[in-house]
Amino acid sequence: MIKSIVAGNWKMNKTPKNGKLFISEVLANMGQISNIDIIFCPPFTGLYNLNISPPFYLGAQNCYFEDSGPYTGEISLNMLLECNVEYVIIGHSERRRIFNEDNDSINKKVLKAIESGIKPMLCIGETIDEMNAGKAYNIIKKQLISGLNNIKSLKNIIIAYEPVWAIGTGLTASSEQINEVHEFIRKILSQLFDDKESNNTPILYGGSVNSANANELISIDGVNGFLIGGASLDVIKFSKIVKIVNDQ
Ligand code: PEP
Repeated sequence: MIKSIVAGNWKMNKTPKNGKLFISEVLANMGQISNIDIIFCPPFTGLYNLNISPPFYLGAQNCYFEDSGPYTGEISLNMLLECNVEYVIIGHSERRRIFNEDNDSINKKVLKAIESGIKPMLCIGETIDEMNAGKAYNIIKKQLISGLNNIKSLKNIIIAYEPVWAIGTGLTASSEQINEVHEFIRKILSQLFDDKESNNTPILYGGSVNSANANELISIDGVNGFLIGGASLDVIKFSKIVKIVNDQ
Protein backbone atom coordinates (compact mmCIF):
# COMPACT_ATOMS: atom_id res chain seq x y z
CA MET A 1 0.00 0.00 0.00
CA ILE A 2 1.50 3.32 -1.06
CA LYS A 3 1.07 6.15 1.42
CA SER A 4 -0.62 9.11 -0.26
CA ILE A 5 1.18 12.42 -0.57
CA VAL A 6 -0.09 15.95 -1.02
CA ALA A 7 2.62 18.39 -2.03
CA GLY A 8 2.08 22.13 -2.41
CA ASN A 9 4.33 23.92 -4.88
CA TRP A 10 4.14 27.60 -3.97
CA LYS A 11 6.29 28.61 -6.94
CA MET A 12 7.45 32.26 -6.59
CA ASN A 13 4.83 33.17 -4.01
CA LYS A 14 4.87 34.05 -0.31
CA THR A 15 7.63 35.84 1.58
CA PRO A 16 9.26 33.92 4.45
CA LYS A 17 6.94 35.68 6.92
CA ASN A 18 3.82 34.96 4.87
CA GLY A 19 4.89 31.36 4.39
CA LYS A 20 5.42 30.77 8.10
CA LEU A 21 2.02 32.23 8.87
CA PHE A 22 0.42 30.18 6.12
CA ILE A 23 1.86 26.93 7.44
CA SER A 24 0.73 27.67 10.99
CA GLU A 25 -2.78 28.39 9.70
CA VAL A 26 -2.87 25.19 7.67
CA LEU A 27 -1.72 23.17 10.66
CA ALA A 28 -4.36 24.78 12.88
CA ASN A 29 -7.03 24.18 10.26
CA MET A 30 -6.11 20.62 9.46
CA GLY A 31 -7.34 18.51 12.34
CA GLN A 32 -6.07 14.97 12.69
CA ILE A 33 -4.09 13.67 9.73
CA SER A 34 -3.22 10.01 9.95
CA ASN A 35 -2.84 8.50 6.52
CA ILE A 36 -0.82 10.81 4.34
CA ASP A 37 2.31 12.94 4.09
CA ILE A 38 2.05 16.65 3.36
CA ILE A 39 4.92 18.51 1.74
CA PHE A 40 5.20 22.30 1.65
CA CYS A 41 7.47 23.61 -1.12
CA PRO A 42 8.12 27.31 -0.48
CA PRO A 43 10.66 29.42 -2.39
CA PHE A 44 14.22 28.94 -1.03
CA THR A 45 14.04 31.90 1.34
CA GLY A 46 10.97 30.43 2.97
CA LEU A 47 12.69 27.14 3.83
CA TYR A 48 14.94 28.54 6.51
CA ASN A 49 14.08 28.24 10.17
CA LEU A 50 10.77 26.46 9.74
CA ASN A 51 9.91 23.97 12.40
CA ILE A 52 7.53 21.32 11.20
CA SER A 53 7.24 17.68 12.03
CA PRO A 54 5.70 14.60 10.38
CA PRO A 55 3.33 14.19 8.68
CA PHE A 56 4.39 17.64 7.46
CA TYR A 57 7.63 17.97 5.50
CA LEU A 58 9.58 20.59 3.62
CA GLY A 59 10.36 20.37 -0.07
CA ALA A 60 12.44 22.65 -2.29
CA GLN A 61 11.34 23.62 -5.79
CA ASN A 62 14.72 23.03 -7.40
CA CYS A 63 18.38 22.30 -6.67
CA TYR A 64 21.72 22.20 -8.45
CA PHE A 65 23.86 19.11 -8.92
CA GLU A 66 27.18 20.58 -7.79
CA ASP A 67 28.15 20.90 -4.12
CA SER A 68 29.44 24.48 -4.20
CA GLY A 69 31.31 26.92 -6.44
CA PRO A 70 30.79 29.53 -9.12
CA TYR A 71 27.14 28.80 -9.97
CA THR A 72 25.45 32.15 -9.49
CA GLY A 73 21.83 31.84 -8.50
CA GLU A 74 21.92 28.12 -7.80
CA ILE A 75 21.41 26.19 -4.57
CA SER A 76 23.08 23.00 -3.41
CA LEU A 77 21.59 19.94 -1.77
CA ASN A 78 23.78 20.54 1.31
CA MET A 79 22.25 23.98 1.76
CA LEU A 80 18.79 22.44 1.53
CA LEU A 81 19.70 19.68 3.99
CA GLU A 82 20.66 22.28 6.57
CA CYS A 83 17.14 23.71 6.27
CA ASN A 84 15.66 20.27 7.04
CA VAL A 85 14.43 19.85 3.49
CA GLU A 86 13.44 16.26 2.79
CA TYR A 87 12.06 16.51 -0.74
CA VAL A 88 12.92 18.41 -3.89
CA ILE A 89 10.85 19.01 -7.01
CA ILE A 90 12.99 18.29 -10.06
CA GLY A 91 12.13 18.90 -13.69
CA HIS A 92 8.97 20.92 -13.17
CA SER A 93 7.61 21.96 -16.55
CA GLU A 94 8.21 25.63 -15.70
CA ARG A 95 11.89 24.82 -15.12
CA ARG A 96 12.00 22.88 -18.39
CA ARG A 97 10.18 25.54 -20.42
CA ILE A 98 11.28 28.88 -18.93
CA PHE A 99 14.77 27.92 -17.72
CA ASN A 100 15.61 25.46 -20.51
CA GLU A 101 16.29 22.50 -18.25
CA ASP A 102 16.85 19.36 -20.26
CA ASN A 103 16.52 15.68 -19.40
CA ASP A 104 20.27 15.40 -18.91
CA SER A 105 20.57 18.12 -16.23
CA ILE A 106 17.36 16.88 -14.63
CA ASN A 107 18.90 13.42 -14.35
CA LYS A 108 22.04 14.90 -12.74
CA LYS A 109 19.85 16.64 -10.17
CA VAL A 110 17.90 13.46 -9.43
CA LEU A 111 21.17 11.53 -8.94
CA LYS A 112 22.61 14.23 -6.69
CA ALA A 113 19.43 14.48 -4.63
CA ILE A 114 19.44 10.71 -4.03
CA GLU A 115 23.13 10.79 -3.11
CA SER A 116 22.42 13.61 -0.63
CA GLY A 117 19.47 11.89 1.01
CA ILE A 118 16.80 14.27 -0.29
CA LYS A 119 13.90 12.62 -2.07
CA PRO A 120 13.34 13.83 -5.63
CA MET A 121 9.86 14.43 -6.98
CA LEU A 122 10.55 13.96 -10.69
CA CYS A 123 8.00 15.84 -12.82
CA ILE A 124 7.08 14.56 -16.24
CA GLY A 125 4.32 15.43 -18.66
CA GLU A 126 3.47 16.37 -22.20
CA THR A 127 2.67 19.80 -23.67
CA ILE A 128 -0.54 20.48 -25.56
CA ASP A 129 1.30 20.29 -28.90
CA GLU A 130 2.87 16.97 -27.98
CA MET A 131 -0.51 15.64 -26.93
CA ASN A 132 -2.21 16.83 -30.11
CA ALA A 133 0.56 15.30 -32.19
CA GLY A 134 -0.03 11.94 -30.51
CA LYS A 135 3.40 12.06 -28.87
CA ALA A 136 2.39 12.16 -25.21
CA TYR A 137 3.42 8.61 -24.35
CA ASN A 138 6.76 8.92 -26.15
CA ILE A 139 7.56 12.14 -24.31
CA ILE A 140 6.55 10.73 -20.94
CA LYS A 141 8.62 7.61 -21.55
CA LYS A 142 11.64 9.62 -22.62
CA GLN A 143 11.42 11.99 -19.64
CA LEU A 144 11.04 9.06 -17.28
CA ILE A 145 13.86 6.93 -18.70
CA SER A 146 16.27 9.87 -19.00
CA GLY A 147 15.33 11.30 -15.61
CA LEU A 148 16.02 7.96 -13.93
CA ASN A 149 19.17 7.14 -15.88
CA ASN A 150 21.79 5.45 -13.64
CA ILE A 151 19.40 5.38 -10.69
CA LYS A 152 19.89 2.10 -8.85
CA SER A 153 16.80 2.15 -6.66
CA LEU A 154 13.40 3.80 -6.74
CA LYS A 155 13.06 3.62 -2.98
CA ASN A 156 13.22 7.38 -2.33
CA ILE A 157 11.77 8.61 -5.58
CA ILE A 158 8.39 10.14 -6.29
CA ILE A 159 7.06 10.62 -9.81
CA ALA A 160 4.67 13.47 -10.54
CA TYR A 161 2.69 13.24 -13.77
CA GLU A 162 1.74 16.77 -14.75
CA PRO A 163 0.30 17.31 -18.22
CA VAL A 164 1.72 20.75 -19.00
CA TRP A 165 -1.55 21.89 -20.59
CA ALA A 166 -3.35 21.24 -17.28
CA ILE A 167 -0.99 23.30 -15.11
CA GLY A 168 -2.57 26.53 -13.95
CA THR A 169 -5.18 26.43 -16.70
CA GLY A 170 -8.22 25.08 -14.88
CA LEU A 171 -8.18 22.11 -17.24
CA THR A 172 -7.61 18.62 -15.92
CA ALA A 173 -7.00 15.43 -17.80
CA SER A 174 -9.97 13.05 -17.79
CA SER A 175 -10.05 10.22 -15.26
CA GLU A 176 -9.46 7.71 -18.07
CA GLN A 177 -6.46 9.66 -19.41
CA ILE A 178 -4.94 9.97 -15.96
CA ASN A 179 -5.50 6.31 -15.17
CA GLU A 180 -3.96 5.23 -18.48
CA VAL A 181 -0.91 7.43 -18.10
CA HIS A 182 -0.31 6.37 -14.50
CA GLU A 183 -0.53 2.72 -15.56
CA PHE A 184 1.85 3.44 -18.40
CA ILE A 185 4.33 5.10 -16.02
CA ARG A 186 4.18 2.14 -13.66
CA LYS A 187 4.72 -0.23 -16.57
CA ILE A 188 7.87 1.64 -17.60
CA LEU A 189 9.08 1.61 -14.00
CA SER A 190 8.54 -2.13 -13.84
CA GLN A 191 10.69 -2.56 -16.95
CA LEU A 192 13.51 -0.61 -15.31
CA PHE A 193 13.32 -1.79 -11.69
CA ASP A 194 12.18 -4.82 -9.76
CA ASP A 195 8.48 -5.29 -9.02
CA LYS A 196 8.69 -4.44 -5.36
CA GLU A 197 10.20 -1.05 -6.10
CA SER A 198 8.10 -0.20 -9.12
CA ASN A 199 4.88 -1.17 -7.32
CA ASN A 200 5.74 0.97 -4.31
CA THR A 201 6.73 4.20 -6.02
CA PRO A 202 4.24 7.02 -5.45
CA ILE A 203 2.92 8.50 -8.68
CA LEU A 204 1.28 11.87 -8.06
CA TYR A 205 -1.02 13.76 -10.39
CA GLY A 206 -0.66 17.50 -10.90
CA GLY A 207 -2.58 19.97 -13.02
CA SER A 208 -5.35 22.26 -11.74
CA VAL A 209 -6.20 20.09 -8.74
CA ASN A 210 -8.61 21.97 -6.49
CA SER A 211 -10.97 21.31 -3.61
CA ALA A 212 -13.85 20.66 -6.03
CA ASN A 213 -12.17 18.01 -8.18
CA ALA A 214 -9.83 16.43 -5.59
CA ASN A 215 -12.35 13.78 -4.59
CA GLU A 216 -12.79 12.50 -8.12
CA LEU A 217 -9.08 12.71 -8.96
CA ILE A 218 -7.88 10.88 -5.85
CA SER A 219 -10.25 8.00 -6.50
CA ILE A 220 -8.61 7.27 -9.86
CA ASP A 221 -6.76 3.99 -9.75
CA GLY A 222 -3.02 4.60 -9.75
CA VAL A 223 -3.13 8.14 -8.36
CA ASN A 224 -1.17 8.22 -5.10
CA GLY A 225 -1.62 11.89 -4.31
CA PHE A 226 -1.19 15.33 -5.79
CA LEU A 227 1.35 17.98 -6.65
CA ILE A 228 -0.61 21.20 -6.37
CA GLY A 229 0.24 24.73 -7.52
CA GLY A 230 -2.49 27.38 -7.32
CA ALA A 231 -4.71 25.72 -4.73
CA SER A 232 -1.75 25.13 -2.41
CA LEU A 233 -1.55 28.88 -1.75
CA ASP A 234 -4.91 29.09 -0.03
CA VAL A 235 -5.32 27.83 3.53
CA ILE A 236 -8.93 26.70 3.15
CA LYS A 237 -8.55 25.11 -0.30
CA PHE A 238 -5.29 23.36 0.54
CA SER A 239 -6.54 22.06 3.90
CA LYS A 240 -9.70 20.78 2.23
CA ILE A 241 -7.73 18.86 -0.39
CA VAL A 242 -5.50 17.36 2.30
CA LYS A 243 -8.55 16.23 4.26
CA ILE A 244 -10.13 14.69 1.14
CA VAL A 245 -6.97 12.70 0.40
CA ASN A 246 -6.56 11.70 4.04
CA ASP A 247 -10.15 10.48 4.26
CA GLN A 248 -10.24 8.65 0.96
C1 PEP B 1 2.14 22.75 -10.66
O1 PEP B 1 2.64 23.82 -10.92
O2 PEP B 1 2.84 21.77 -10.37
C2 PEP B 1 0.68 22.66 -10.71
C3 PEP B 1 0.14 21.46 -10.74
O3 PEP B 1 0.00 23.84 -10.74
P1 PEP B 1 -1.60 24.01 -10.67
O4 PEP B 1 -2.11 23.14 -9.55
O5 PEP B 1 -1.81 25.46 -10.40
O6 PEP B 1 -2.13 23.57 -11.98
